[in-house]
Order: sequence, then structure tokens, then C-alpha cells
Amino acid sequence: MGELQVDSGSILIIDDDPVVVQGLGRMVSELGAVRFALSGEQGLQMAREAHPDLILLDAEMPGLSGYDVCRIIKADPDLWDIPVIFVTGHDDTDSELKALEAGAVDFIAKPPKPLLVLARVRTHLRLKQMSDELRRNANTDALTGVPNRRQFESLLDREWDRARRAGARLSLLMVDIDHFKLYNDHYGHQQGDDCLRVVAQTLQGLVQRPADTVARVGGEEFVILLPETDAAGAIHVAQRIVSGIAARHIPHEGSPASPVVTVSVGATTVRLGADAGGVAPSFRPPELVLSADQALYAAKHAGRNCSRFLALEEPPDA
Ligand code: GH3
Ligand code: MG
Ligand code: MG
Ligand code: MG
Repeated sequence: MGELQVDSGSILIIDDDPVVVQGLGRMVSELGAVRFALSGEQGLQMAREAHPDLILLDAEMPGLSGYDVCRIIKADPDLWDIPVIFVTGHDDTDSELKALEAGAVDFIAKPPKPLLVLARVRTHLRLKQMSDELRRNANTDALTGVPNRRQFESLLDREWDRARRAGARLSLLMVDIDHFKLYNDHYGHQQGDDCLRVVAQTLQGLVQRPADTVARVGGEEFVILLPETDAAGAIHVAQRIVSGIAARHIPHEGSPASPVVTVSVGATTVRLGADAGGVAPSFRPPELVLSADQALYAAKHAGRNCSRFLALEEPPDA
């Protein structure tokens, strides 16, 4: 019909006036599931729980105002990508500017006109879908479908901060396919790519906790981030990876290490947060990667198809 097609989205309406909430809800109901909140506080809580695709936000509310709510959303790494449209009784330049400065994508004056609300919400839902898609592609390795280096790095930063706040441990595994150059030489690059896909899938199947993340960070190199995992846990998972990949029995006739595809794994752990007795004030995330790399080097040196562990910690007399 010439209209932009929108997959069903979810919309959160935050307004202290139940009549406005009901009216807006009716106007946009054909675009997706609609939720309501009657205060800024309740709205924030629902945004965290439901992660809607779009928020219609009243500017003036007792308690947290719409401007406050919008600023909090835009500063929150879990919520900032949700587009916020302000709905307000003041359609003057100042109010509009204030809304845009707080991070709103658009502005609707009260009383809201049904066709205008529908058109604007549809447009912003569509834009949200497109940016979600772009973000997914930018963060995903095209060959294997697992997170790429870029996503791994931002995830590592986030988990690092989380671990520091919680005084928790953070473990990292570096996984490298053994003699993969010889695999390509023997079977060809196409089958090499197939092998990488199988290894990526297998790795994902071998990690168990929801927070564990497998990423492809180089040609035949993967990392596995293990939040809240201590040294014993990291060593355990590393060994499971080594035996789990070999158990796939992917033939690798050219390999001097084994007749099947194998990996070497470097494992490392850091304990963060002074409260927990962990110190490590001078460490940064790249050092965790370096430590895993050194452990990987030791595993390669020990003959491949095995894992080695190296803790990231201050020297005893430091
Ligand atoms: P090692 O056991 O020491 O790790 O030996 P290796 O041959 O695996 O290591 P090296 O770093 O010498 O070679 C890695 C090879 O991985 C080089 C390249 O042929 C292959 N490779 C890297 N990226 C890709 C890819 O996207 N697809 C395919 N098919 N092969 C890749
Ligand atoms: Mg109000
Ligand atoms: Mg390598
Ligand atoms: Mg290799």
C-alpha cells in the first residue's frame, strides 16, 4: 500500500494521565504490543524489564519528569538504544529543544492527533528495526555467526567493570585451531571455512552458562569469556573444549598433531575489586587477553591439542 512495513514492535507509553495513556494506546495499538506506566519510576522499571522498541514519554509528570526519565535511559548501556518520543502540552521551541537535548528522537504536541502519532511511531519503529539490524551485523562474524572481535571487546569492557564492582573473578579462554594452514592446504579454503563454522558451533555448545560468550577474533582464533568463573572453572572449561573439539572427529589428514581437527587453549583468570581482596588496580582488559595469549603459546609449545593456564595477578612482592 506504499506504507513502510513494520514488523510488530513493542511500545511503552509513560504518562501520569490515564486518559492520555488510553488514547495514545488506541492510536498505536495496530503497530504492536502496548504497555503502560503512570509514572516515570514505573516507566523506567518497565523499560528495564521489557526493553520496548519505542517509548512515548510525557514531559511533565510528578516525581521523575519525562526529561529525567529520558536522560536516565540514554545514559544506561542496556536502554540507550530505545527511541524516545516526547508527548507534551508545550509545543514551544524551548520545550522541544529540551526534549531533544535529553535524547529524544521526536516530539508530539498534546492533544495528540491520531494519524500523526501513528505515522511518527511507525517511522521510528522502522528506523529502530534498521539500526538493530545494522548493529547486529556490525557485531557479528559473517562466516560463523558468532560475535566478532568488536563485540567481544565491548563485552569484555562491560564484564570487566561488572566484575570490578562485584569484586568477582573473570576468566578468558583463547582457542586456536592447530595446524589450520595445513588444513586449508589439504582440503581447500572452502572446506576450511566449513570447518571454522563447525568449530564455532561446537564451542558454543561446549559452554554452559548463559553469560559465557564465544567470539571469533581472528582467522582461526576464538575467545571465550567466562564471567564469575575462577581458575578451577576456567581450567575445567578449557579441558572440556580441547576434548570436545577432538571428539567431533573432523578429519585433518595433514596435521602432525592428530588425525582429527584439534585446538589449543590458553586460559587465564583475574580477580577484580579491592573489596574482595583482589587488587589488580593496574590491570586493564587488554592484559587479560595478553595473559590468555601467553597461556595459548605455552599450550602450542607443549605439543598442541591441550590447554594451559596462567593467572593474571600482581607479582607477590608488588
Ligand atoms: P598453529 O597450530 O601454530 O596454530 O598453526 P596454524 O597453521 O593454525 O597457524 P597459522 O597462524 O600459521 O595459520 C593460520 C591459518 O588459518 C592461516 C590461514 O590459512 C587460515 N585461516 C585464517 N582465516 C581463515 C578463514 O577465514 N578461512 C579459512 N579457510 N582459513 C583461514
Ligand atoms: Mg503529565
Ligand atoms: Mg592462530
Ligand atoms: Mg592455529
